[in-house]
Amino acid sequence: MKFVYFFGAGKAEGDGSMKEVLGGKGAGLAEMTRIGLPVPAGFTISTECCDYYLKHDLKYPQSLHAEVIKNLKQLEKTTKKTLGDAKDPLLVSVRSGSARSMPGMMETILNLGLNSKSVEGLAHKTKNERFAWDAYRRFVQMYSSVVIGLPKEELEAKLREMKTRHSVKDDSKVPAEGWHELVAAYKDYFNTKTGNAFPEDPEEQLWGAIGAVFSSWNAEKAITYRRVEHITGLLGTAVNVVQMVFGNNGDNSGTGVCFTRDPSTGEKVFYGDFLINAQGEDVVAGIRTPMHLNELAKRMPKVYKQLEKSRQLLEKHYRDMQDMEFTVEEGTLYMLQTRTGKRTPTATFKIAVDMAKEGLISRDEAIERIKPEDIDRLFYPIVDPSTSKADLAKSKVAEGINAVPGAAFGKAVFTAEEAESMARNGEKVILIRRETSPEDVGGMFVAQGILTATGGKTSHAAVVARGWGKCCIVGCEQLDVDYGSKLARANGKTIYQGDWVTLDGNEGIAYLGQIKLVTPELPPAFSILMGWADSTRKLHVRANADTSHDAVKSREMGAEGIGLVRTEHMFFKDFDFPEKSIERQLAIQEMIIADSPEARKKALDQLLPYQRRDFVGIFKAMDGFPVTIRLIDPPLHEFVPHEIQQQRELAEKLGVNVNVIQRRVEQLHEANPMLGHRGCRLAITYPEILEMQVRAIVEAALECKKKGIKVTPEIMVPLVMDKKELQILTDRINKVAHQVFSEAKAKLEYMVGTMIEIPRAALLADEIAEVAEFFSFGTNDLTQMGMGLSRDDAGRFLPEYVDEKKAGIFASDPFQTLDVHGVGLLIRWAIEKGRSVRPKLEIGICGEHGGDAESVKFCHEVGMDYVSASPFRVPIARLAAAQAVIEERAEKKASGKKKAK
Ligand code: PEP
Ligand code: MG
Repeated sequence: MKFVYFFGAGKAEGDGSMKEVLGGKGAGLAEMTRIGLPVPAGFTISTECCDYYLKHDLKYPQSLHAEVIKNLKQLEKTTKKTLGDAKDPLLVSVRSGSARSMPGMMETILNLGLNSKSVEGLAHKTKNERFAWDAYRRFVQMYSSVVIGLPKEELEAKLREMKTRHSVKDDSKVPAEGWHELVAAYKDYFNTKTGNAFPEDPEEQLWGAIGAVFSSWNAEKAITYRRVEHITGLLGTAVNVVQMVFGNNGDNSGTGVCFTRDPSTGEKVFYGDFLINAQGEDVVAGIRTPMHLNELAKRMPKVYKQLEKSRQLLEKHYRDMQDMEFTVEEGTLYMLQTRTGKRTPTATFKIAVDMAKEGLISRDEAIERIKPEDIDRLFYPIVDPSTSKADLAKSKVAEGINAVPGAAFGKAVFTAEEAESMARNGEKVILIRRETSPEDVGGMFVAQGILTATGGKTSHAAVVARGWGKCCIVGCEQLDVDYGSKLARANGKTIYQGDWVTLDGNEGIAYLGQIKLVTPELPPAFSILMGWADSTRKLHVRANADTSHDAVKSREMGAEGIGLVRTEHMFFKDFDFPEKSIERQLAIQEMIIADSPEARKKALDQLLPYQRRDFVGIFKAMDGFPVTIRLIDPPLHEFVPHEIQQQRELAEKLGVNVNVIQRRVEQLHEANPMLGHRGCRLAITYPEILEMQVRAIVEAALECKKKGIKVTPEIMVPLVMDKKELQILTDRINKVAHQVFSEAKAKLEYMVGTMIEIPRAALLADEIAEVAEFFSFGTNDLTQMGMGLSRDDAGRFLPEYVDEKKAGIFASDPFQTLDVHGVGLLIRWAIEKGRSVRPKLEIGICGEHGGDAESVKFCHEVGMDYVSASPFRVPIARLAAAQAVIEERAEKKASGKKKAK
C-alpha cells in the first residue's frame, strides 16, 4: 500500500480529489502544484497511515520507513538542499491536515532539520545570525513541547528569563546572543528531563515529529472539536512535510492570508492581509496590524501580480471562492494553502449568483450551493460571531433542543400573563415554562423567545414559535422551573424573574445576561437566486398560517397558498385587537363548560363572528391562492385552566360555581390526550362546533367573493381513521355550506378533504379517497403514531437515539426530518392507493417536515403537489424543491450513462 505522495517542481502524485487520503491541506498542495502555482516542494503521509499507526500501538507500517526516506531524497534533489547541511540546509515544516478543517486542534512543527551544524549553515546562507538562531530556538521549543511533551510554561519561563536578562520586552528586539543562550538553556532542560541530549540527527527529528502529529489526532481538544462539529467517519490526519520558506527574513519577505472574493460581502474584490517580515502565525495571532493587499501591490508589484494570477487561476480551477495562505521569501512568492473559503450568508448568495452570471458555474450549481442554514441565518438575528468563547462559556446556563433558529434576549418571566403584562409596559421578555399549552399563546406571542424544559421539535411551543419565526429552545431537561418561587435552576446557576436572559435558538443554548446580537440584511442576490429556484421546482409551496398577519408574511416569503390554518389558535388570541382576546377565550370556555347542545350552541354563536373575521382576513391576504382550513383539532381540556386560582376566576366570569369548572376539567382529563378525544372525534360528538366553523368559513368566503376577492377554501378534517367517519362529517359540512348558500343566495366552489395522520388512514387511503377531495399528510401525528413516539415527551430520550456516539439508531430526529424509511412507506402507500381511486387527488404535507429540506426532497420524489411550511421556512422549502429537481435530473443522467455502458 502506498502511504507517501510527493509534490514539487510542477508535478504531484496526489490531486485535489484525494482529500480523504491526503487531508484538505495535502490535497490542496498537490492540486496547486499540478496547475502550475509556486508551491514549496514536499510530501504528504496519508491519513491511512495515521489510522494504522493509531490502531497498532503507535507503530508505523513496515514499508513506511523506506517510502519516507525515498521521498526525502527526492525532496532534497528537487530543492537542491540537504537536511542538516552545514552550508545551506533544507528545513521542513511538519503539519497536520485532515479531510475536514480542524483549525488549531492538531500539532505543527516548524524549522525541522536545524541542529548545531545546520544553524550555522542557515546563518551563513542568510547572512543573518540572529534570524538563524531565532529559527533554531523556535524549533527546539516546539519539538520539546509537542514531540516530547515538556511543559510549555517552563519553556516560556526560560524565554522570559532570557529577555529580562537582556532587558528587552519584544521578541523582535532579542539579539543573536540571547537566542544562543536560550537554545543552550532549552537543551540543558531537555537533557535533565529526558536523560538524553536534544536530537541532532534530522531524520530522528523527523520521525519524532511525524509520530507527534499523528498522535495529536487523539488529543483531548481535537476529540472535543470533532464532537462539537459533528465530524465523524474520518481515518485521521495526514502529515505534510514541506520545504520551509521564510517570510521573516527581512523587508523583502512577508506572509499573508487572502480570499479570492470578499468573504463578508461576497464582492468580487481581492481581499486579504499581509505582514512584512513575518511568519504565518504572526498574521493569525493578530499582534501586529497587517497591511491591506493594495499596499502589497505598491511595495512588491511583481509579487502582487503573481498573487493576483494565482487568485484567478485558483478560483477558475476550483470554481468557488478560495481562502489562501502565502509567503514571500526574499521577493519570491510561495502559495502554502488553498481551501474553499468560509463566508457570511450574504456573501454565500452573492457569490453563487455572481459566479453563475459570470458563467463560472451553472444556475443549477448556484442553487445547489445554498444550504438551509444559509437561509435561516439570513432571516434571523444571531449571536454576534465576534463574542468571545470564554464570555459565552461563562454566561451559559443550559442547553436544550434548538427548535427554532435565531437569537433573542429579554427579561425572564415564568407565566404567560406576566409576559403579557410586562410586554405591555414595553419590556422585552423571554418566556420560560416547563411546557407550553394553547393557553400560553398570548404570552408566547409577546415574548422575544421561548424556553421550555420539556418537549421536542413538534411540541406545542416549537410549532407555535416556528410559525412566528420566534427563537425557541425546548427539551431543556437540565432546567428546573419553579413557578412558586419564580425562578429556574440549571447547572448551578439560577435565573430569577426579571433577569436578562439570551437564547441562541441556532445552538439551543440559554445564557444569563444580554449578549450582543446581529441581524444580517436581505441581499439582492437572495431574490435573484430564489427566482431561479422557483422556475426550477415542480412542487408548490404553501405556508402554515393561522392569522391574516401570518398570511401576509407567508406571501412575502413566497408562499403560494396556505396548507394549514389551525383554527384553534384563534380561540385564545385576537391578533387584530389583542384587548379583545378575553372575549374569545370566554366564549370557547363557556362552550366547553356547557352541558347541553343548546348551551354549547349559544356559546358558539359568540365565537362565530370572530372566526368569520379571521377567515376574511386570511382570504384577503391570500387573494385567490388556495387556503386549507382545518377544523378544530386539540382535546378540549387544553382550553380550560387547571390551576385552582384560574378556575376560580373563570367561574366568576362565567357566573357558575367553581365546582362546575372542576368537574368538567376532571371529566375532560385523559391519560393519553394525543390519542383521545381530539381531531374529528370532537366533530363527531359535538356537531355544533363543526357547524359553527364551517358556517364561519363559508360566510367569510362569500363575503370576500362579493368584494371581488377570489377564494378557494379547502375544508380539512383532522385525525380521520375511517371512511365512514369522514363521510358523516363531509355530509354535515356540505349540509351547512348549502344552508349558508341558500341564506345568502350565493354560491362558491369549495373542497372537502382530510389529513392523513393516523396510520390506519394511510393504509386505507383508497377507501378514504372515495370521499376526500384532497389529502394533506399531518406528519407530526403520523410520525408520532407510526413510530409510537410521543411528540411531547420523546425529546427526553430521542437525542440518545440520534447521537452517533450513543445509540445512533436514527440519523436525525424523525420529528424534524421525515423517517423516509418507515413513515415514508405509509406515505408512499397512501399516495398510490389514494390516486388509484381519484387520479387527480390533490396531495400535500402540512406537518413540520414541510419546511425541512431533506423531507421536501422526499415529497417531490413521491409526487406530492405541494408542501406547506411555517412562513419563515417557506424559502427553505422553495430552495429544497428546486434542489430535488436538480438532483433527480443528475441521477437520471447518471443512470442513463450506466445503462449506455
Ligand atoms: C400534524 O400532525 O402533522 C399536523 C400538521 O397537525 P398538528 O401538528 O396540529 O397535530
Ligand atoms: Mg396533527
